[in-house]
Amino acid sequence: MALPQKCPLCNKSHDNQNVVTSHVYGGQPGQAFYRCSNCDVCYLFPGLTPEEEKKFYVAEFSNFMNGRAGASGGWNDPAKHVEANAWMMSRRMKYLESRLPKSGHVLEIGCSSAFMLYPLVERGLECVGVEPSGVFGEYVRSRGIDCYDSTEDLIATGCYREGFDLILHSFVLEHISAPRAFLQQQLDLLKPGGQLIFEIPNSADPLLTLYDLPAFERFYWIVAHTWYFSKPSLEYLLNTLGHAFQILLDQRYDLSNHLVWARDGRPGGMGRFSAKFGQEIEDQYRQALVASGNADTLVGIITKR
Ligand SMILES: [Zn+2]
Repeated sequence: MALPQKCPLCNKSHDNQNVVTSHVYGGQPGQAFYRCSNCDVCYLFPGLTPEEEKKFYVAEFSNFMNGRAGASGGWNDPAKHVEANAWMMSRRMKYLESRLPKSGHVLEIGCSSAFMLYPLVERGLECVGVEPSGVFGEYVRSRGIDCYDSTEDLIATGCYREGFDLILHSFVLEHISAPRAFLQQQLDLLKPGGQLIFEIPNSADPLLTLYDLPAFERFYWIVAHTWYFSKPSLEYLLNTLGHAFQILLDQRYDLSNHLVWARDGRPGGMGRFSAKFGQEIEDQYRQALVASGNADTLVGIITKR
């Protein structure tokens, strides 16, 4: 089995690289996730070749995600996707609201059905999306938001030379083989003082680190993710960019989802018992996970100098 010679993020030698798991969901024999003991990042090795990566995203990504999320994810039906992600949108608005510019231009990279952008349009912001999936792109344009197939296509229009006030992406960075260059491209598209705000999974997910559920371990580490960041490894990456930043923790999945994982060993429990618990218990559970550092989501906030 091939072993990594160094950390692909901090370049520390092979002595610092240890296998986290060889259960790679959707992966090939011989692939594993490693953790670097220097910067704390986890990464897939061997990773996908650029050809495999392209093939995966063009042809297979929505089918792959449908297989994981079930039909409720709405990956094939944009209107349903907006509806299915209403809870995701309101969760994000809790930390986004106070950080939104009063006016100006917002870009979301990988906007899918643009469920995050409609509420920002309502607040008077001028929004534009980048989305490689044609089904989503057409839908977003039909709702009056400019949407490009790639960031390169958007840059080529020359329309946004004055820069964006806010750039967003969610659950994109972990798929990108060159994360520093990816973030730098967005910093170049921001106005001075503009913000880049993004979400990624936290490798200190409570189902792994607190409850250590074997079924979740087999589900969590997926071939589509090149990286799994923790707070320390994200700090390492953001420090290399030279701008002020902040990292928040957030908890996407609720107590019901966690109970169903523990009972049945599968996803899909969101909201199942919420009516019994009441909102207060759900909120306290989320807050306790965030406070302990064992929360499933990291939010990176970079302010351009
Ligand atoms: Zn490292």
